[in-house]
Amino acid sequence: MANPIVASERLERVLADHRETPYLALDPQVAAERYDRLAAAFAPARMLYAVKACPEPSVLAALVARGSGFDVASHQEIRLCLDAGADPALIQHGNPVRGPGDAAAAYALGVRRFVTDSAEDVADLAVNAPGARVLVRLMVADAGSATPFFGKFGALPQEAVRLLGAVRAAGLTAAGVTFHAGSQQRMPGTYADAVTLALRVAGEAGLRRPELDLGGGWPVPYREAVAGSEEFAAAVDGAVSAAVTGGHVDGADLLLEPGRALVAEAGVLRSRVLRVSRRPGVDHRRWVYLDVGRYQGLAETEGEAIGYPLRAPGRTGAPGPVVLAGPTCDGDDVIYRRTPCALPLDLRAGDLVDLLHTGAYTSSYASVGFNGFGPLPVVVATLKE
Ligand SMILES: *Cc1c(COP(=O)(O)O)cnc(C)c1O
Repeated sequence: MANPIVASERLERVLADHRETPYLALDPQVAAERYDRLAAAFAPARMLYAVKACPEPSVLAALVARGSGFDVASHQEIRLCLDAGADPALIQHGNPVRGPGDAAAAYALGVRRFVTDSAEDVADLAVNAPGARVLVRLMVADAGSATPFFGKFGALPQEAVRLLGAVRAAGLTAAGVTFHAGSQQRMPGTYADAVTLALRVAGEAGLRRPELDLGGGWPVPYREAVAGSEEFAAAVDGAVSAAVTGGHVDGADLLLEPGRALVAEAGVLRSRVLRVSRRPGVDHRRWVYLDVGRYQGLAETEGEAIGYPLRAPGRTGAPGPVVLAGPTCDGDDVIYRRTPCALPLDLRAGDLVDLLHTGAYTSSYASVGFNGFGPLPVVVATLKE
């Protein structure tokens, strides 16, 4: 199959050396390189890696070495960051859903930055995180996102203004505004619109130079090209300048919370073909069953939201269309039915199939053992021996 996509040399070396499937080959150096690119495009913005995208210690350590901060959702993620050497001053608790004891636990570990989106949570922070810097999360439009949040988080503008006031009244520092415009967000204009709204909210709340946390969402070229970081940075810059010109704020200190954009291309999921079936009367396509599926790390293929590039190393035959499915007895465990997939016509049981750009939202999403399969082993590439 003529697929031009190649992984890093270090990843190819892992794939050449490691036979037992399935596993995720992971190259922390790729994450560090992506970090540098995004940080350069948005300089002098501060970067907070969204740990949930790939919480592997080797990735966290590589980003600590780059000076990255971290966006976390639980005290377990805080501990992972601290174990990797992160400075607690650079950790932000970005999950406004905090249960009893969560804010206090984060605070005890040294975290002083929190994101909120409800009056109930502000009251909790006032008691359990005295003196903390708090950003209010705004609900924004997410057109252009492959995996949107469907309104789970964020306050509407008037409520966000009220919450910033409540933060201040509670003796906390109202630091600014944040949003998440949906993951795999391909439209720079969606960020620009969100920035415009966020700075209007900040200005109305009396913040002349707010922190403006742009969240995550920065896209990855899975099967199609995406706009470059510079294009997104220019859109954001334009919206900030317009807000300054319009008198809403005097400026903004930017933060980014990239997840996917740093780690997706750092991973290759190597799988093996369990069976290739013809299904007369059911489907004209071959069905290819792999030893990985929805429950071994491919959660983001739900609704076929993310279409990973595929390749079949070792087979060079002409490609033909397939349905790609996972190994379990669950009817949902079909990876791609609508997304066009072509694999070599000479593909056989026992052959290898790689899913590329699978470093984000895979290993930590795998089930512990549904139907006896999983969890997904991770094999980390090392620098040259
Ligand atoms: C998941 C998440 C991110 C990272 O999103 P990506 O789309 O992977 O960049 C950033 N911030 C918050 C609050 C998140 O929940």
